Amino acid sequence: MARLAWLGLGTMGAPMASRLIEAGHDVIVWNRSRAKAEAFNGRAPLAGTPAEAISRAEAAITMLATPDAVDEVVLGSQGALAGLGGSGTLIDMSTVGPDYVTHLRSQLPEGVELVDAPVLGSASNAEDGSLKVFMGASDVAFERWSKVLAPIGKPMHMGPLGSGQAMKLVANSALAGLMSLTGETLALADALGLEQGNAIAGLLESPLGPAMKRKIDKFESDIYTPSFKLELMLKDMRLVDEHASKRNVDLKLIPDAKEWISLAYQRGYG
Ligand code: NAP
Repeated sequence: MARLAWLGLGTMGAPMASRLIEAGHDVIVWNRSRAKAEAFNGRAPLAGTPAEAISRAEAAITMLATPDAVDEVVLGSQGALAGLGGSGTLIDMSTVGPDYVTHLRSQLPEGVELVDAPVLGSASNAEDGSLKVFMGASDVAFERWSKVLAPIGKPMHMGPLGSGQAMKLVANSALAGLMSLTGETLALADALGLEQGNAIAGLLESPLGPAMKRKIDKFESDIYTPSFKLELMLKDMRLVDEHASKRNVDLKLIPDAKEWISLAYQRGYG
């Protein structure tokens, strides 16, 4: 069992931290808004700052919204780095992209081990421990930390540091494309006069079937309670854009999918 500092108790972070606590790890928690940390009262000790949390742990795990948030929580004056000193491990599970991992690595002393471990799946997978954990790490670090993270989901070794983030951007590009295609095909079905139930039944039998199946409850109930904020998906698609253009990859479908997400955001669906 490991002594862990969990930093970030949002939609994903709270159930993921809970699973590590239930698995018997010694977890101390911190969140910027205190109320979310207080929900852990009685289950885990609460830290006043990220630095305080890590001073009582061997590894800090961050699950935060954006690269800026990770910068603040790790490198800020009361940040994890201040508590880590020159050793220990930092595992970042936020979706931030591989270039940010390179930046973060450059800010940490050599003695601090860094692992990237973003996740695929959503809130319900975080609750039942069925996330996929894309890890970028040395073989030794993967061997050690994948065992610790196993209660959260299935650890998959994608390659050296940054590879987990690379895989996460690839996977979310596929997701954005499928979401947009689902919306466009349903709009086309409407325009062609198909009754929506029939269009959905037909599409379930098409190559789009698995994507449709995952959203079927929402179509049928017309209730779209978010489990992954559209604003965060837009952040991911901006990361994809930045990483792709830096590497001169010629993408056409994925930027169009980003455009749909961006339009929805402008219309207040963030
Ligand atoms: P969320 O519910 O919005 O939670 C974000 C967390 O980041 C909260 O703890 C928030 O603290 C913290 N935070 C934001 N800005 C901060 C700052 N400047 N300083 C300190 N803390 C800050 O997001 P989430 O859905 O849990 O997602 C977390 C990460 O996982 C994101 O990178 C997201 O893209 C990724 N992800 C999400 C899903 C999903 O389905 N939701 C799936 C896979 C991956 P407060 O509570 O104080 O606001």
